[in-house]
Amino acid sequence: MVKFSSPESIITVNSCSGGKTSSCMYLDFPTDETIFAVVLSNHKVNRLKDKGVLREVQNRIPWFEGTMEVEQTLTAMLELEQLGGRKITWVASDWTYEDLVMGQTNIPGKQMPALPNGVQRFCTQWLKLYPIFYHCYNFWLPRGQILMNIGFRFDEPKRVKKYDGGCKLNRITFADKCDITGRFKGKHRWVKDFWWRDIQFPMYYAGIKKADVNKRIAETGIIYPEISNCAYCFFHKAEEHRRQYELNPEQAEAWIDLEDKVSFYHGKDITFDKRYRLEEVLFKGVNNNPGVSGCMCTD
Ligand code: SF4
Repeated sequence: MVKFSSPESIITVNSCSGGKTSSCMYLDFPTDETIFAVVLSNHKVNRLKDKGVLREVQNRIPWFEGTMEVEQTLTAMLELEQLGGRKITWVASDWTYEDLVMGQTNIPGKQMPALPNGVQRFCTQWLKLYPIFYHCYNFWLPRGQILMNIGFRFDEPKRVKKYDGGCKLNRITFADKCDITGRFKGKHRWVKDFWWRDIQFPMYYAGIKKADVNKRIAETGIIYPEISNCAYCFFHKAEEHRRQYELNPEQAEAWIDLEDKVSFYHGKDITFDKRYRLEEVLFKGVNNNPGVSGCMCTD
């Protein structure tokens, strides 16, 4: 395990998910930097409708074409920055969600089409965590040690207990160079088990509950999506999927297409949920099984 040699200072970072709780944390617990990782998509149904929002997003992420999140999340992040008066740094992977799922990346062991699910949520890892990590690695780690605020609330003690004092995501394996000559020519060289951050839970320790967050966000006037995170994230319950379909029906096509493509490749049904295709959840009223652990992309 690699540890920091002699950190000169502590750099505090807020990780904004696009949801209400972390937005509240950005407003009321200022840090040296706030980072928002947006999940990219190249599906036509995920292009932004508002040209002004698209322009602002492309100013931050020039290779942005569309997102698996709902447009309202991105609008909310732009408005939040205006309200808070402190920059929110947007980061994104070089890959879209579709690239990752279809194995079109250079990630070792990820060259086959595969769907993330409640147990293997590699989309969080590669499309949110790594972009945040690489930004911190390039800009902050040379100057000090990262202390990241995580937006778990007072009414989420189980999540705090689970991650306090030892979150495995505090360590990371990453490629830090690519050799251009010699024995390893053209190969990525991987650093293993790199301790890149510590975490803290300011909302929890300040006793802030969901009702407080809702009240605070209502005061801002910013409209957040009714269902946070990626539009049809596999962590959503069946009723959330069906409600999302009432709110954003077009975006379902991107998720259904991925189930179809990965299933076609493997010659059998491969689904985000263990038992059901998203279409069955949306149109046949079956109840899905979101998975064993909560989504770390939330809220
Ligand atoms: S919100 Fe869900 S689908 Fe999106 S990156 Fe996180 S776990 Fe994956």
